[in-house]
Amino acid sequence: MAEKIDLLVTGIGRLVTPPGNSPRFGAQMRDVREIEGAAVAIAGDRIVSVGTEADVRAEIGDAQVVETLDVGGRLVVPGLVDPHTHLVHGGTRENELALKRSGVPYLEILAQGGGILSTVKSTRAASEDDLYAKARKSLDEMLRQGVTTVEAKSGYGLTTGDELKQLRVAKQLHDTHPVDVVSTFMGAHAVPPEYKGRTDEYVDLVVEEMLPRVAEEQLAEFCDVFCEHGVFSVEQSRRILLEGKRNGLIPKLHADEIEPLGGAELAGEVGAISAEHLLAATDEGLKELADNGVIPVLLPGTSFNLGLSTHARARDMIDRYELPVALSTDYNPGSCPTESIQLIIMLASLNLKMTPEEILTACTINAANALGRGFDIGSLEPGKRADLAIFDAPNLAYLPYHFGINHTFGVIKNGRVAVWGGNIS
Ligand SMILES: [Zn+2]
Repeated sequence: MAEKIDLLVTGIGRLVTPPGNSPRFGAQMRDVREIEGAAVAIAGDRIVSVGTEADVRAEIGDAQVVETLDVGGRLVVPGLVDPHTHLVHGGTRENELALKRSGVPYLEILAQGGGILSTVKSTRAASEDDLYAKARKSLDEMLRQGVTTVEAKSGYGLTTGDELKQLRVAKQLHDTHPVDVVSTFMGAHAVPPEYKGRTDEYVDLVVEEMLPRVAEEQLAEFCDVFCEHGVFSVEQSRRILLEGKRNGLIPKLHADEIEPLGGAELAGEVGAISAEHLLAATDEGLKELADNGVIPVLLPGTSFNLGLSTHARARDMIDRYELPVALSTDYNPGSCPTESIQLIIMLASLNLKMTPEEILTACTINAANALGRGFDIGSLEPGKRADLAIFDAPNLAYLPYHFGINHTFGVIKNGRVAVWGGNIS
């Protein structure tokens, strides 16, 4: 036991956490640890004790307690992890709202030079300072939602210089903002206009020039591809992900979002850590994910915002294939312009029919494992990083039930109070 407790969090009405470091599969997602009248003892940026207040006080014994923080009977869960965002980008796309509402499909807007390509233009035109200031505002909002770790993808630069620019901004955010930012290189997010009709040549650029530079400057841990009809084929995606692997980047994949192209199968084949979206994934694809330990990251905000009546088959994934489902905002300026993980919590309940316990597991330990960080974050246990979200709610079910508001009262990040009374401290 530590000789000095820097922060003793008391007055926790209910603490809920998934157990352990590993992904939670299928029915395990509902098996969470709940403690009433809990406390958490923290030394530096680490948890040293979690339990009932009496147990924690007995365990820390006569250790010096520097600061005690009473959370007033509120709900405490692990700091939420958002494992799929397009955080760093220029511009906004509210001008496409009318087109979308009149029913023009997403891939058609993209084919007309809108969609991702419009954000590419704004991102190329933006300075690193502009991108930093805009993304920092979003990161503040995520923190106020109870999020303590965020993944951020490049993919709006689509030139070597502009992709590196996005990744440098993400690194700068990680270094200067309380929220941890984990970077993914996604040079294969779209085919840039100057390569229209020459996708294979663009893939050459990604593989031969971008990937080695990203690896050399250590600007990303993961490599992702938008594998979709009219964007990158299964063959092109495979080439990029395998080259990424050779450069030390772990594969992720935007798979079977719109059409069942075989993205889930490819994710299994290349040993991806996660596969994202999966609205159109086939049974064979889901089986492939299960057989290869790939974490499905579901993004219900995107189907909601695109007005789709189809949803990812979360119940099949959990009940039939015993997959370790994770959830994310997919925050991006086109298909899902929201930083609100709490909206995602509500949509996971409404449209994916996930239980509150499954949703918590999906937003914590499973999301942490989708970023290779299950050993460090995603559950409240001694030795793990002291990242806590404090919600003004009596229990887990209250979060998706009382919707459209921000439940966050406080956030502790790395053992320090980052949000209190709903405001960033
Ligand atoms: Zn995405």
